[in-house]
Amino acid sequence: MSDLKYCQGPDCHTYFTNDRMKGPKGNKTNQTRRRSSLLWGEFCDTRCEHAWFDKYGTRAVDHFGRLNEVKHLTEENAWVKNYDWEDSTSYDNRNRTYYFLNTITKEQRPLTEAQYNDSSYTLNER
Ligand SMILES: [Zn+2]
Repeated sequence: MSDLKYCQGPDCHTYFTNDRMKGPKGNKTNQTRRRSSLLWGEFCDTRCEHAWFDKYGTRAVDHFGRLNEVKHLTEENAWVKNYDWEDSTSYDNRNRTYYFLNTITKEQRPLTEAQYNDSSYTLNER
């Protein structure tokens, strides 16, 4: 069990919950949560996620690129991924039909499940 991930919340260890109290009996301390997988990406919960953003959000936006002008939704960047149920009586992933939908022109184009799940796959121009 050495593959535990540490919650990146800067104040995680300051919140009082039973599961944060760790250590030998009589010498327990309140500790950062660690889990084999964290449900909120790098964080144990939304409080830690928000605490991180409050502390580092501005620097993160500056680092990855601040938006300084409006973006416009056009036919060239209006593609979204969607799916329909082939059989509405069975809500099962195997019965999904995946497609791109252009939210302006309403044009649809076929999409495989692998393409649907690939977050970098898009028809949109950047
Ligand atoms: Zn946390």
